[in-house]
Amino acid sequence: MTAQVVPPDRQVTPVRQPSSLAAARLEKTVSAGAVRHNLAVLRAAAGGRGIMPVLKGDAYGLGAPAVAGLLVGAGVQALAVDTVAEGAALREHGVGVPILVMDVDVADNAEACARYRLMPAVAGLEQVARHSAVARRRGEPVTVWLRTNVGFNRFGPREERDVDTVLDALHRARAAVRVAGVFAHLSSSARDAEETAEQAAAFRARVSRARAVLGRRLAVSLAATHGLLHPAALDGTDWVRPGIGLYGLMVPDSRDLPGWAGSALARLRPAVTVRARVLDLVTVTRPEGLGYDRSAALAPGRRLATVAIGFSRGVTGHAPAFTGLLRGRSCPMVGRPGMDCAQFDVTEVPQARPGDWMTLIGREWDGTGPERSAGDVAAELDLTLYELLAALRMPVRLEDGADTPVAPP
Ligand SMILES: *Cc1c(COP(=O)(O)O)cnc(C)c1O
Repeated sequence: MTAQVVPPDRQVTPVRQPSSLAAARLEKTVSAGAVRHNLAVLRAAAGGRGIMPVLKGDAYGLGAPAVAGLLVGAGVQALAVDTVAEGAALREHGVGVPILVMDVDVADNAEACARYRLMPAVAGLEQVARHSAVARRRGEPVTVWLRTNVGFNRFGPREERDVDTVLDALHRARAAVRVAGVFAHLSSSARDAEETAEQAAAFRARVSRARAVLGRRLAVSLAATHGLLHPAALDGTDWVRPGIGLYGLMVPDSRDLPGWAGSALARLRPAVTVRARVLDLVTVTRPEGLGYDRSAALAPGRRLATVAIGFSRGVTGHAPAFTGLLRGRSCPMVGRPGMDCAQFDVTEVPQARPGDWMTLIGREWDGTGPERSAGDVAAELDLTLYELLAALRMPVRLEDGADTPVAPP
């Protein structure tokens, strides 16, 4: 018999799900209306090419199944992820469109890749061998994309002669392995037009060789979000693979690229907000410091809000520039965050109350107030925009923006 820890009449009847209990303190929201608008903007910038949204890292920490549902509902015909596990999770959530697994995964996952009807990237001989073995074992061909390396240098050979060896292997394995397309990742499209043009030219040469060996019908994809700012990265391609642009975000430096002027991407709209509740207010009465080891010194008279975001949610270390918006004012974080809360100096906000929402990313007052952009926050925490989105782990709510007007492309 199992031990009865809580007597039956004392057991708590759950009234709210644990996830909604967490969301009452802290939440990340994604505006569905803004994502649909951004998809329209990306389509306009892609000039008739297909859009294959990239939902890696749980859609940049925004919830891949929900974002996939939204995008497929908006007419997207293919998706991309980094890993077999991510693709399998989308299939388990009923996503039926073709899914490209862009990174090379471990050989152990090749069988599941086929079972979930995912399209793996093959970059080298090892992957050709592993996917053709799976196809033979299953008695069913596997569809792959060739990932070719034009300078990102993370997967696959860099030199032409080695690429030719891979093409030969794919040609020999053609009964088992069907190559649907060829793609590459640009290394510097957020910052460097010249290098991007060079990599795009190298890519076009690779595509011609691939077509000479494998046939003319190969689909072609090079640009991600920032690639849309480079005509050379779009030339001769069929698919664009945007990720971060779907959420209205771009690397700030990309605004200095020659392609920025007149680009449709100027119309992208931020889609993400992060807010956390004020839990308590503390007035400093002694010059003794606060937190572990009383290491953060603060003068008596200052008023602090203890807010429900800590390092378990991605706000780590000592970031004295990190601030939150409370009742229209910018309030700096003081000291180091704890596991589930951090403190902000709200001396200038005498009306602050427990239960108030502090805005960490986005606009206050349902979008009408002052704004803290994701770019500001990334700079304050010394993270890239990509790192910031994925680092902030908390309940995510997809706000149904069906009534938000979508700007014509
Ligand atoms: C992440 C990634 C993308 C999407 O990049 P964004 O800059 O977020 O648009 C596209 N292709 C590959 C191979 C990637 O790894």
